[in-house]
Amino acid sequence: MKYLLVILLVLVVFWIWRSGRPGPKKAAQPGRSRGKPSDGKETTEMVACGVCHIHLPRSEALIGRDGFYCSEAHRREDGA
Ligand SMILES: [Zn+2]
Repeated sequence: MKYLLVILLVLVVFWIWRSGRPGPKKAAQPGRSRGKPSDGKETTEMVACGVCHIHLPRSEALIGRDGFYCSEAHRREDGA
């Protein structure tokens, strides 16, 4: 009778462990990096450099008088 209880306990733990795991293939979809809802503003918004018009993430762009620039050189070049 003791063994039956142990086996039952193991089965229950195993079942909970299995159902607690993420699904087999549902988690592998391409929707990526939805991890941080706290900084929703800092997503990858693209801006164009005012001189060479290259696109870069806003977080990496330099902000000048007339808009965004890809580098300090281009910001100066535009007379900011
Ligand atoms: Zn540039």
